[in-house]
Amino acid sequence: MTARSGITHLDELIFDNRFVHELPGDQELSNTRRQVEGACYSRVSPTPVAAPKLVAYSREVAELLDLEAEVFESADFTQVFSGNRLSAGMEPYAMCYGGHQFGNWAGQLGDGRAINLGEVINRQGQRWVLQLKGAGLTPYSRTADGLAVLRSSVREFLCSEAMHHLGVPTTRALSLITTGEQVLRDMFYNGNSKLEPGAVVCRVAPSFTRFGNFQILAARGNVDLLKKLVDYTIRTDFPHLGEPSPTVYLSWFEEVCRRTAQMIVHWQRVGFVHGVMNTDNMSILGLTIDYGPYGWLENYDPGWTPNTTDANGRRYRFGNQPQIAFWNLGQLANAIYSLVGSPEPLQQAMNSYVLAFEQGWQAMMTGKLGLDEFDAKTDDQLIDELQTLLRDVETDMTIFYRRLALVEMNAELADEVLMAPLLAAFYVQEQLTEQYKTRLGNWIRQYIKRAQCNETTDENRRQRMNATNPKYVLRNYLAQLAIDQAEQGDYSLVNELLEVLRRPYDEQPDNEKYAEKRPDWARQRAGCSMLSCSS
Ligand code: AMP
Ligand code: MG
Repeated sequence: MTARSGITHLDELIFDNRFVHELPGDQELSNTRRQVEGACYSRVSPTPVAAPKLVAYSREVAELLDLEAEVFESADFTQVFSGNRLSAGMEPYAMCYGGHQFGNWAGQLGDGRAINLGEVINRQGQRWVLQLKGAGLTPYSRTADGLAVLRSSVREFLCSEAMHHLGVPTTRALSLITTGEQVLRDMFYNGNSKLEPGAVVCRVAPSFTRFGNFQILAARGNVDLLKKLVDYTIRTDFPHLGEPSPTVYLSWFEEVCRRTAQMIVHWQRVGFVHGVMNTDNMSILGLTIDYGPYGWLENYDPGWTPNTTDANGRRYRFGNQPQIAFWNLGQLANAIYSLVGSPEPLQQAMNSYVLAFEQGWQAMMTGKLGLDEFDAKTDDQLIDELQTLLRDVETDMTIFYRRLALVEMNAELADEVLMAPLLAAFYVQEQLTEQYKTRLGNWIRQYIKRAQCNETTDENRRQRMNATNPKYVLRNYLAQLAIDQAEQGDYSLVNELLEVLRRPYDEQPDNEKYAEKRPDWARQRAGCSMLSCSS
């Protein structure tokens, strides 16, 4: 007899919807765009769509929600997760938040096109908020349309799941559904608008609260409500910290600092550039949130950002992400200052970010290099020189680190032999001058010497490296190929990439083609190396 205890109909999901039951909501119930004061959210229903069609779903997220596979085959699933029907227990709402955009306070932003359907409690007692992105207008839509296009929804769906399987804290994605409607978008804000297929992604996370949810209340001087939201967050998402009090506020903030640091260390490890680290895009749980104009480093360039909207200042470039997270935490500290009463303990708490980042970064780098532990005497210099080498010629970061594990650990070998496994990582062979090869050879010898100080076996070193340095990431051009096909109605590559990216650290002999360098055609193609906030 097979035990079948999963959910086979969406009306069986159990919602507790604590957020709307415990926190004050907007008194105004009409769906008109406005400033929403004295509330953490507004109740609003998704806008129905014409002809929803399921493109893909994540079976791991289905499992989190105890959903059986047959649920996804039903037309009802597509109806519910496109916003056409509310299943039993759903109480939809959009959250009110503000934020600093590109360093400037932007006032009220809020869920302009995201609608939370409610909070599911699964069989293990875990809380999972279901959220539709691209589900229509809300009071926070400002001048925009509340919709999302297929292009950006494929990117959000695939990257959320890829990041999870890479071990990076992230919001998840349950499903990707096309709406059967067309949406007008000016992809590069240059007057070239075109109609694109509309889509809705169902995102899933324990909470979608952002730094900006606290900031907007502080900016409006609503200390009572700020305290309510902080207390709610601590009780719901940080229960291990104990009952809220000024001391607990500090330990909460410290934990947010530490979690944020860990998230950023992971981004730097896998070469992920978020692209829009505004404070409204910073999760209070330290999850990667809001996949917009993000990108993956191909050639290692700390100055790179995929976001053309940020082309001038490059505020959110790869190498600047750790500093920006610190700055953003400073804004959160400002927002909760009134609850703590004095600035010093908050400043001290921010040191826990610096410390957690530094320790995390060192541990991460030792993992990437397969060293037993970080030794500042040798490793700062070893890593500095490596980063200079990676920057000096166009070097694919992912391939280089992955293949470093293949280098023979014998310093007696000739340069050519030592660096042979790494050649696949270089984009322009002519850049490999004799002088460069000598430097690289010297570095490899230095690395071999350092790795020989390990107490673990060489096999362990390689395993450790392969568990830290992914083979498969969602290369920008791969996402674009999947989008090109999806826009023609062919969803097979979306699903194939979803499958490959479930095991990013495994060798997958049949899927080698997805681990290759960016092809030349993708170097300057829109969507591959250049993206904007238009989505
Ligand atoms: P983002 O830059 O995507 O993080 O978005 C910043 C703000 O703009 C958030 O409040 C979003 O909800 C809102 N927003 C972005 N795109 C749209 C859209 N198409 N319709 C309504 N609001 C949007
Ligand atoms: Mg956002």
